[in-house]
Amino acid sequence: MTDYLPYGRHIIDDEDIAAVVGVLKGDWLTTGPSVALFEEAVAALAGVEHAVAVNSGTAALHCAYHALGIGPGDEVVVPAMTFAATANAVCYCGARPVFVDVLEDNLLIDPDAIEACITPKTKAIVGVDYAGHPCDWKALRSLADRYGVALVADACHSIGGALDGEPVGSLADISVFSFHPVKHVTTGEGGMAVTDDAALAARMRTFRNHGITSDAAQREKTHSWYYEMVDLGFNYRITDIQCALGISQLSKLSRWIEKRNELAKQYDAAFMGTGVVPLLQRGNIQHAYHLYVVRCENRNDLFVRLRTEGIGVNVHYIPVYLHPYYAEKGYAKGLCPVAEKAYGEVLTLPLWPGMEAADIERVVQALVMI
Ligand SMILES: *Cc1c(COP(=O)(O)O)cnc(C)c1O
Repeated sequence: MTDYLPYGRHIIDDEDIAAVVGVLKGDWLTTGPSVALFEEAVAALAGVEHAVAVNSGTAALHCAYHALGIGPGDEVVVPAMTFAATANAVCYCGARPVFVDVLEDNLLIDPDAIEACITPKTKAIVGVDYAGHPCDWKALRSLADRYGVALVADACHSIGGALDGEPVGSLADISVFSFHPVKHVTTGEGGMAVTDDAALAARMRTFRNHGITSDAAQREKTHSWYYEMVDLGFNYRITDIQCALGISQLSKLSRWIEKRNELAKQYDAAFMGTGVVPLLQRGNIQHAYHLYVVRCENRNDLFVRLRTEGIGVNVHYIPVYLHPYYAEKGYAKGLCPVAEKAYGEVLTLPLWPGMEAADIERVVQALVMI
């Protein structure tokens, strides 16, 4: 019996473990020096001024939407083909997600479909860099500017990617990353929101800490017990333990992305001329390849066959509005036909930097050699 091959997984080495142990032996377990250092490292990578670390990508989305002033009565445009959290965080704010269809060839939000969804209530457009392929951020920016709405990047799939040489993280007003173990870089659970706007960063920083304007370390430094709660925030703080792991992981990101791209190329070559069709990659991007997604007509059969052979394929995603929670709110089947058709055909194949050429070959054999 060959080993089970998951569709994605983390890699932890001795350096990572030493970094975590170092924090455990120190003075700060939560908000301390490692949080600030991790924020600086991610801001530098993303080419922006400010980064706010939180305890999940979902929390980072909530911080971003809240900082932009999204609230009851507002609408936020989101793609149908994403993880539920992109839309759920809109609901946390009391606002309504408006689902937009995606492009047939790469499953990214369709800029031409957005315009029809914009109303006087629209506050923001959210792009998701599905599978790690950056959206057409230039088109999204010009739409956002034309209608005077904010632009948010759910970049949970695309840390380390780029568009026309501009790093992911610098392409929207606020960009959001996740550090869940299946993502590129992990902190166990964790997330980060990055921006060039100091006021947005300050609101997110306050929001992650109950709406309080200073943290314990700052108060210790100024010998003060006084603090002010100025907003109704949450406890979305990430620990120093997690951030030490994040800093150590981040140093491997560029190597890991290179490896992901190499493995993806091997898949691409193997599927040429077969009924297994990879998503299209545009020429002006650095793909982060969080996921390697193909489309195939007999997806359900292939899913079962590969799982039976110990190959951990998956399906990303069920169009968000088809989930019972959203269906009960009145979103109906047929809303985004391209996303719905894709949902019947997509299959996520194993892709993570610990895989070797032989693993890719094993997946290819199982998929196309029958
Ligand atoms: C993983 C993910 C999230 C949520 O991140 P968590 O850290 O799991 O909360 C949000 N959006 C997308 C597209 C994701 O893939």
